[in-house]
Amino acid sequence: MRDQDDGSKIIKSVLIGDGAVGKTSIRRNYLGEEFIEGHLATIGVDLATKRVLFNDEIVKFILWDLAGQPSFVSVRGHYYHGSNGIILVYSVTDRDSFDNASKWLVEAYRNMGPLPPTVIVGNKIDLRGKVPEEQLVTTEEGKEFTEYFIEKLEVPAVFRETSALTGENINDTFTELLRMMGEAEKEQPAIYRSKV
Ligand code: GDP
Ligand code: MG
Repeated sequence: MRDQDDGSKIIKSVLIGDGAVGKTSIRRNYLGEEFIEGHLATIGVDLATKRVLFNDEIVKFILWDLAGQPSFVSVRGHYYHGSNGIILVYSVTDRDSFDNASKWLVEAYRNMGPLPPTVIVGNKIDLRGKVPEEQLVTTEEGKEFTEYFIEKLEVPAVFRETSALTGENINDTFTELLRMMGEAEKEQPAIYRSKV
């Protein structure tokens, strides 16, 4: 698909994961916006765009920031369609959000079929050392989950741990996603193009 305004190519990704894990904060950090302390629940869906370099071409990158609340399930379904990449976020301080990560992938799979390149993100690592050890999701658990998921669903995926507060690994997360999406396009240009 091409932008009606300037004819540039459009690529899309979705941010998914439980509420309050930091999806909106990650998006804001990536776009150079300031960190917000309080949690303002995303209602339905937010959309952000950025110009990025993609396979040697400047393209318009659209990032859908979906609300995590179960009540928005019908709204979310729509936005999976046509996405070229997924960022699945959990919080390393919230074990439930990690346990729910596979449910999010199942929801994505139900809406999209074979999944596009995916980054699995364990966010809020700045809080390691500040909350009791037994509450934390370890790096090893995140890696294992990602490997399991790659094998099970045959999806190009990587694992990253981030902090939207300090900005650690945020840019790298998006660089990796764009790199994987670029590879996917080279390997299957026809399928890829029909999705954008
Ligand atoms: P969302 O519901 O997934 O979009 O989560 P938000 O981005 O709204 O963040 C939920 C809460 O967690 C807010 O109070 C944020 O300030 C906080 N938060 C998000 N990311 C981080 C992080 O990396 N570190 C810390 N310490 N807090 C974070
Ligand atoms: Mg949000």
